[in-house]
Amino acid sequence: MSRSSPSLDTLFTWIRTESPTHDRAGVNLMMDLVVSQMQDAPVAVERISGTEGLGDVLVLRAGPQTSEPGILVMSHLDTVHPVGTIESDLPLRLEGDRLYGPGIYDMKGGAYFALEAFKDVARRGAAARPIVFLVTPDEEIGSPITRPMIEDFGRRSAYALVTEPARDGGQIVTARKGVGRFDVHVEGRPAHAGSRHKDGRNAVYEAARQILAIEAMTDYARGITTTVGMISGGTAVNTIPQHCRFPVDLRVETVADGEAVTAAILGLKPHNPDFKLTITGGMNRPPYERTAATSKLFDQAKSLASEIGFDLVSAPRVGGGSDGNFTAALGIPTLDGLGIDGDGAHTLQEYGLVSSIAPRQKLMTRLLETLR
Ligand SMILES: [Zn+2]
Repeated sequence: MSRSSPSLDTLFTWIRTESPTHDRAGVNLMMDLVVSQMQDAPVAVERISGTEGLGDVLVLRAGPQTSEPGILVMSHLDTVHPVGTIESDLPLRLEGDRLYGPGIYDMKGGAYFALEAFKDVARRGAAARPIVFLVTPDEEIGSPITRPMIEDFGRRSAYALVTEPARDGGQIVTARKGVGRFDVHVEGRPAHAGSRHKDGRNAVYEAARQILAIEAMTDYARGITTTVGMISGGTAVNTIPQHCRFPVDLRVETVADGEAVTAAILGLKPHNPDFKLTITGGMNRPPYERTAATSKLFDQAKSLASEIGFDLVSAPRVGGGSDGNFTAALGIPTLDGLGIDGDGAHTLQEYGLVSSIAPRQKLMTRLLETLR
């Protein structure tokens, strides 16, 4: 690897520092690593204490001290993998070009080299505009504490760059679906399954009917999907259950579909007045629709990539939401998927391709130097 590439040793330390979103201490250890990474660079570091039991947020600033709209770079350092994953199911290991480990691909690899690029540009005084690098602790749960910050910095930015993983052979992301989340609680009436069956109102049974209705809202042609991925209810095998709960995941391509399906889910009624249905939630991330300004930004990135020596391709609209959805919804030209190439995000087969780090770091450097 060239001298400007991140050293794998440091990246190994990052992966060994397990940081699932709800492990505040682990996430804060990651933030400590970033603070020390920036120590000898001309970067202003602001550390904001996390709230709601979550880790801290870092706001790193560099570049010209002007009031012109700047470049916002966003990386999250929380992962979905519980502590201990690295010891058991997903050990840190290098197999050929593949570096396996929890969070390597989503998105510690991308965050690390983007911070290296940022530091390098800051040191050389080469930034084209003021740069704000936002390092967040809560992306994997929908960014509950950082969303207002992201939107606030977004409004003051000319561009947003997000280091989520690249897709299928290094493609970057210029459009994402919007994401909605709901919680459904069904309350019935408990009864003995043997002696008082008739008196019971089975909350699991009613939930099953609601789930059929919710799953039927999926419309692949319009890019709408609804998923009930978990369910809990009942207390014993011989008791008619009083309660049943399940969350709903919704993905949409347009703001209008987000509103329509949200209304349909919130408007569900019990099939029988003896059941009580309580539904909360709504759109969590708005759709990230590709605008003309984002297309122009993509074209600039593409020509920088070809100078570096690789072909930058934009992925078809992807289903997963990210913090890029928030800036894109505000009309800020947003490029996402600028992280490393690899596969297996959120799985125990997660890996990043080491060979993708150097060219992608170079691309981030050039974007920070040239985005006028
Ligand atoms: Zn991610």
